[in-house]
Amino acid sequence: MSPSPPRVLCVQAHPDDETIWTGGTMARLRADGAVVDLVTTTWAPGKPRHLELVDALRALGVDREPVMLGYADGGVADSADRPALVAAPFDEEVAELTAHIRHLRPEVILTTDAFGIYGHPDHIHTHRLALAAAEAAAERHLYPAAGPAWQVSSVYLVTVSESRSGSAWQRVMAARGADADPAFAFGSPDDRIDEVVDVRGVLDLKWRALQQHRTEFERSRTLRAIRALDEPVREALLGWECYLRRDLVAGGRALFG
Ligand SMILES: [Zn+2]
Repeated sequence: MSPSPPRVLCVQAHPDDETIWTGGTMARLRADGAVVDLVTTTWAPGKPRHLELVDALRALGVDREPVMLGYADGGVADSADRPALVAAPFDEEVAELTAHIRHLRPEVILTTDAFGIYGHPDHIHTHRLALAAAEAAAERHLYPAAGPAWQVSSVYLVTVSESRSGSAWQRVMAARGADADPAFAFGSPDDRIDEVVDVRGVLDLKWRALQQHRTEFERSRTLRAIRALDEPVREALLGWECYLRRDLVAGGRALFG
């Protein structure tokens, strides 16, 4: 008998990051019957991008409401009334996310790698916040008002595989415009990647979910560049989700049985 699927919490910076980077993993986990939650660190509840995010999660099969921490997106000041994510007091952010982890009790956290996948300051900050809160949640003497301690078993840091999707991402990044640096590099070599999740079987769900982020398609040259790709290139771009695995307890927790 295969083990029961893990409880998973995805922690991402902006509405759309959950779909672009980890949407296929979430859809596969939901197909296995896993409980999947999402914390998005920027944007406030009730804003258009929050509503689009709910639609995207539905397309992935995630029926639980996303938690919006409601810090301001670094690129969009009116995304929230709270301070910018990267400028708010870090200790308060960690306490807040710790409370959500202790309440939701995930065995696995999905978040971004230390470079925020491609260097976005909100992504880098979200990585640091997720790791700090995953450790803090297990320490009962820290933030006692945030609920009983909870031990996360493993954290999976999503990254871009240089060999699988590096060149496709370079095409997308080059399409961002004249200010794009053609030598800009990001991603991880294969020998650093611990887990490759093949999401080609749920790519239609992932693509439908991404298209729910309607206002972002109007704003973002990156999303429009993804839409303009030929289907095989788009599959290379979005069909694999690759992770660096960090076990917080011996043995950790596998994503799939
Ligand atoms: Zn983002």
